Amino acid sequence: MTVYNFSAGPAMLPAAVMQRAQAEFCDYKGCGNGIVELSHRGALFTEVIERAEQNFRDIMNISDDYAVCFIQGGASMQFAMLAMNLLEAGKSADYADTGVWSAKAFKEAKLFGDAKLVCSSKETKYDHIPALNTWTRNPNASYLHITSNNTVAGTQYAKFPEVLPNVPMIADMSSDIMSRKINVNDFGMIYAGAQKNLGPSGVALVIIRKDLAERTPASVPTMLRYSTYINEKSLFNTPPTFAIYMLALVTDWVKEIGGLDALEVINNKKAAKLYSYLDANSFYTSPVALDSRSKMNVVFRTPSEELDAAFVKAAAKEQLTGLKGHRLVGGIRASIYNAMPEAGIDKLISFMDNFARQNG
Ligand code: PMP
Repeated sequence: MTVYNFSAGPAMLPAAVMQRAQAEFCDYKGCGNGIVELSHRGALFTEVIERAEQNFRDIMNISDDYAVCFIQGGASMQFAMLAMNLLEAGKSADYADTGVWSAKAFKEAKLFGDAKLVCSSKETKYDHIPALNTWTRNPNASYLHITSNNTVAGTQYAKFPEVLPNVPMIADMSSDIMSRKINVNDFGMIYAGAQKNLGPSGVALVIIRKDLAERTPASVPTMLRYSTYINEKSLFNTPPTFAIYMLALVTDWVKEIGGLDALEVINNKKAAKLYSYLDANSFYTSPVALDSRSKMNVVFRTPSEELDAAFVKAAAKEQLTGLKGHRLVGGIRASIYNAMPEAGIDKLISFMDNFARQNG
C-alpha cells in the first residue's frame, strides 16, 4: 500500500526515481559496482555530475553567467558561507525576516559583518510575507537575502522584491526550488538543501553568478570559498556522490514529466484543492494570510491541540504520515512537494473530512 509521506524534509521522492535507484543500485550500467562504490573522478560518475548540472541548467534556464555547484553542509552552512563570501567589508547586508530559517540566516551573517532587517513578520508568528512596499531597503547593501518559501510557517512569496541595481538578491529556496518557474537572472545566488524537492539530504544546490565569487576575502578557507566549487566543478574534494546521483535522477524525472511548465500546473492544482477544502470546512483553520499561502507547506489546525495530536496519529494509521507541525509551532503541516502525487492530496482531504465529521 502506498504511504503518502507529508514530511517537510527529508521528503518523498518520485516513485519512479526510487525504483530506478533501486534497479541501478548494485550494478550501475553493467559495470559490476554500485554508484556509491565508484570513484568520483571516474567516467561513470563524471557523466552523472555533468548530467545533474546540465539538467538544472535546462530545467531552470540557467545561463553561462552562473555556476551550478553541489556543496555539503546543507542550507544551514550556506547561511554562513554566503556571508563569509559575499558580505563586503564596510558594507551591510539586508535580510527579510519571514520565518525561523530567515532568522537563522540573519544570525549567521552578523558573525561576519553588519546585517540589517528590512522587514519582519515575527510579531505575528510569521503568518505573512510583509508587503514589499513597506520594506526599508538599503540601495548600497552588499546583497538582499530572502527565503522564498517559509517551511515552518507555511508562507511563500507570490512575487519577489524588485531587484535594485548593485544589490544582488540571494534566495534560500530550500523548500520551493524547482516547484515553479522563476527568472534566475533576477538573483545573484540561489541555494537549497536538497532534501525536499531535489533528492536526499547531504548536499545543497548553489546557483551563483560567477562574478560574485570574486568578492571573497583572502582569509576564507578553501572549502568555504565559492570559487573553489566553481573552478573545480564541485570536485575539489570527494563530493556526496550518492546524493548527486539522486539529483541527476530527480532532474531526469522533472524533464520527462515536462519540466517546470508541467510542475507549476500540477503544484497549483494540488495546493488549490487542499486550500479550498480548508476554506470550505470551519473545523479547520489556517493561520496564514491569504496572499502569503505556501503551495509547498500547508499549515492548519483543528479546534484544539489534543485534536491536532489525535489527527496526526489517526492519519498515520491510514498511511498519511509526517503531518505533525514543526516542533516550534505545533499544529498540522502537510508538505506537498513535487513528488507528492495528486492522489495523496485526495486521500488527505477525504481523511480530513471523516475526521472533522467524527470530531466536529
Ligand atoms: N532553509 C529552509 C527554508 C529550510 O526549510 C531548511 C530545513 N528545513 C533549512 C534552510 C535548513 O536546511 P538544512 O537542514 O539542509 O541545513
